[in-house]
Amino acid sequence: MIGIFGGTFDPVHYGHLRSALEVKGIFGLDEVRLIPCANPPHREQPAVTADMRLQMLELAIKNQPGLKIDTRELDRYQESEQAPSFMVDTLKSLRQEFPAEPLLLFIGSDAFKHLTGWHQWQRLFDYAHIVVMTRPGFETQALDDFFKARLAGAKELAQATAGKLCFQQVTQLDISATAIRDMIARKLNPGFLLPDAVIEYIKQHQLYETR
Ligand code: ATP
Repeated sequence: MIGIFGGTFDPVHYGHLRSALEVKGIFGLDEVRLIPCANPPHREQPAVTADMRLQMLELAIKNQPGLKIDTRELDRYQESEQAPSFMVDTLKSLRQEFPAEPLLLFIGSDAFKHLTGWHQWQRLFDYAHIVVMTRPGFETQALDDFFKARLAGAKELAQATAGKLCFQQVTQLDISATAIRDMIARKLNPGFLLPDAVIEYIKQHQLYETR
């Protein structure tokens, strides 16, 4: 089984990294692919270039063999005249590469709230399971029928290659890239929120110094 963790990673931080590592263990995944987004369709453009976000990601996961970087959204962006990075296209291309493998797309509960606004969001389930990483006490009662019909426990995901919706608690680290960018712009120290190697890179390249 392969995990997929998409994000802007502007910059990558321990909220992303800890969650990715934790779900790898919980679901017994062979690998978790971190997929940096080139041109996020649902939010502001990233503060720094795709190359720099990628380099920070490389520094961050250097000593974690189960975490991998997958550059297909960045590659596609260059090939397709800067089209938006739709997750449905990413999952479709992963499915072509891994026709018989369960694919698990991990998203935070904040991202899940907006899922029905994603391009062709129902089709995401044709290609992958979706696992929402939640806080303790997260309620699934209010889900609509489309989602309720797909609900499954963690152990059921290995039985199909796609189509299920699962909610999984992970250790909550209240860290966001927005807060880190703000902190750096205010000349505060972001230490212990993201890897030292990434902090060094940010300093070297004078990133996020203005808002
Ligand atoms: P920003 O503050 O710029 O919006 P972010 O910190 O939320 O960025 P993204 O790169 O946009 O990071 O998020 C990628 C994915 O990681 C999303 O699914 C998001 O829900 C999840 N995520 C972000 N921060 C955390 C965190 N602290 N713990 C768990 N998941 C997180």
